[in-house]
Amino acid sequence: MIDRTEERFGIKPDWLVADTAYGSAENLAWLTKKRSIIPFIPLIDKSERKDGTFSRSNFEWDEDNDRYTCPEGQHLLQSRRNYSDPRRKEPKTGRRRYRATKAICDACPSKSKCCPNTNTRFIGREEHEDARDFARLAAKSPFNPKAQAKRKKVEMLFAHLKRILGLGRFRLRGPCGVRDEFTLAAIAQNLRKFARLRPKAAETSITI
Ligand code: SF4
Repeated sequence: MIDRTEERFGIKPDWLVADTAYGSAENLAWLTKKRSIIPFIPLIDKSERKDGTFSRSNFEWDEDNDRYTCPEGQHLLQSRRNYSDPRRKEPKTGRRRYRATKAICDACPSKSKCCPNTNTRFIGREEHEDARDFARLAAKSPFNPKAQAKRKKVEMLFAHLKRILGLGRFRLRGPCGVRDEFTLAAIAQNLRKFARLRPKAAETSITI
């Protein structure tokens, strides 16, 4: 849709708002890296813990050194081996796992708040976690509430089409039929909006 809109109308958004269904890592990576669009899209995020132990957000990501730093300042790495071939140390693609050592975690004063039931703490990192981090940052920006309000405004129009104008199900079949029916419904919706605007315009002209 984004590419088609750009091709047809020559416009490309700087930001985009959508619901969680569009918040997959691949989608966010495509938006941010390939199209330079800021995503105001809620993530499906199961990394926050509710049992009082440290969540992943308590661990700081260090992109340059490919590691996490825990709240106690220890490093969680993918591997601690010194390979003779440096290419074996290169970050793997796909989901990666970072962990501290058992010795470090055993001696840690915060172990009960971090990994009370395991020897050491693991942190998983998805392939496009950087894009997800960027979306998390966008969600905290002061513009996010405005973007979400705009999303609701658009969704209300679709809800109105479905519930009030009875477009829960199309009567015509095939892409052309659906397009025609939807266009007519959208025209009807816009006419209703125009009709509501008229008295205001009339009032304004009387006041002037
Ligand atoms: S238990 Fe291990 S990973 Fe967790 S805070 Fe302590 S040293 Fe860091």
